Amino acid sequence: MIHTLPELPYAPEALAPALSAETIEFHYGKHFQTYIDNLNRMIEGSPYEDMEIEEIVMKAGGAIFNNAAQAWNHDFYFQTLTPVRTAMPDLLKEKIEKAFGSVSDFKTEFIKAASTIFGSGWAWLCESKEETLSIVQTQNADNPMTQGLKPLLTADVWEHAYYIDYRNRRAAYLEAVWDLIDWEKVSKRLI
Ligand code: MN
Repeated sequence: MIHTLPELPYAPEALAPALSAETIEFHYGKHFQTYIDNLNRMIEGSPYEDMEIEEIVMKAGGAIFNNAAQAWNHDFYFQTLTPVRTAMPDLLKEKIEKAFGSVSDFKTEFIKAASTIFGSGWAWLCESKEETLSIVQTQNADNPMTQGLKPLLTADVWEHAYYIDYRNRRAAYLEAVWDLIDWEKVSKRLI
């Protein structure tokens, strides 16, 4: 199957000033598109040719894994953002309080985890099969699904995610993106 760039659930300029239209143009329009294009080229004639992206992430290695995982991760990231402020649903709030003490403590820990990833990667909020929430850091394209965890939320900390708007200020980018998180969508991903 030919994979295509998923549509954004908002206009390219809708997340400004937290994320500018130029950042979306490059991050979504160029970086994300390139992962999709690379994946389509690499899977042609391979055992992965007819698989959904999630299945490729779980089964492939090397460059095919890298491009499939980056495609999955970016779709998940962009779909989790919204220009409309959302309240955190009660069940999600309860699970966050159980794991981290409070929503405020979770925010501090999540931003710290995302800020301290060395080099390129992703910070995640995940749920285990036992329904426990945890923060996970991954490098490069890696995705916690391959460790048996269910991703609920992610923050992209590759420099291309923030360099146009924030230059080297990764923590400032994370603080701004926090206010764009669609908590209804995060909550719907709970087990
Ligand atoms: Mn990215």
